[in-house]
Amino acid sequence: MSSSFQDILSRSLEGHQPTYGEVLELLSVEDPYLINDLLNTAREIRFKRFGNKVFLYGFVYFSTHCRNDCGFCYYRRSNDIPRYRKPLDDIINVAEQLEDSGINLIDLTMGEDPAISSQKSYRNLLRIVSEVDEHVDLPIMVSPGTLPPEAFGQLRSAGADWFACYQETHNRDLFKKLRLDQDYDYRFNQKLWAKKEGMMIEEGIMIGVGEDVKDRADSIMIMGDLDAKQVRAMTFLPQEGTPMQGRKALDFMEEIRTIAVMRLVHQDKLIPASLDLEGIRGVKARLMAGANVITSIVPPNKTLAGVAQHELDIDNGMRSKEQIESELDGLGLRVASESDYLSFLKKCSLEA
Ligand code: SF4
Repeated sequence: MSSSFQDILSRSLEGHQPTYGEVLELLSVEDPYLINDLLNTAREIRFKRFGNKVFLYGFVYFSTHCRNDCGFCYYRRSNDIPRYRKPLDDIINVAEQLEDSGINLIDLTMGEDPAISSQKSYRNLLRIVSEVDEHVDLPIMVSPGTLPPEAFGQLRSAGADWFACYQETHNRDLFKKLRLDQDYDYRFNQKLWAKKEGMMIEEGIMIGVGEDVKDRADSIMIMGDLDAKQVRAMTFLPQEGTPMQGRKALDFMEEIRTIAVMRLVHQDKLIPASLDLEGIRGVKARLMAGANVITSIVPPNKTLAGVAQHELDIDNGMRSKEQIESELDGLGLRVASESDYLSFLKKCSLEA
């Protein structure tokens, strides 16, 4: 196995995308020495494509209300938890504060809050996006859940550059169990509709929700077919008050190996390392696997939540740019400038 494994790594370094069978092989490797080689290769590819630059995304989770009941999610409708819906002024204020801190993009995220957007009216969502766009001179990613097809042109006109909508799995049977009463194709089509209107898309999977290695390989290839410009893998963490609360979380190494394989397959795409899982401690391991975006930067003391861990490191300021810069220094990496990010976006738009 090891010689063909090394061949896959060498070919990847030369810019060749691993085949589906090779992706399966890479995802299945258990030998720690080979895993180490995989991670080294992933980092080298990131360096070839992006140099030593890492992008930073600020995160504004502006409503934790949701009409859905996803089995893995703390904010699912039937979980009896305190929730918030931030007023527009607060959202703008947080976005401005994030811009001042020197991040590259504002990620506007919400649960599927019917007071902000529904299949009948998404006017409030459009207003939030256009107001943030007016006040902040940064690209905007919007993660609002599902929208009707006719919403996407308006969302783009309101100022959305990116649309993120994670399928979490591309195994339809598993999807049914995770995203209860939701339609696989409707969710998948969100990304196609967004792309058609000129937005870049992010697709994501969760690790440790009952998927097998083949499911992960399928997802990695589907992300390519979708032409997602940002692709993420994130470990499932059991959430209190949900049907999956008793499930054991997988070792983070499964996610890290998946990130490395994603870097070999999707060499010129963005791959996030989220602060939402292990806080600042976990970012380093994900960057060592070839990730090149740090997501979920949240200003302290704004009573904002994270997604996977609703409080981790937020209010003590450990998710701030300063903290991250000192971590990056130790890895020989640095924060990308605004113009670095705009060059990446320009390259994407030329490919479209
Ligand atoms: S994952 Fe999103 S859509 Fe599902 S319950 Fe949570 S917030 Fe709602």
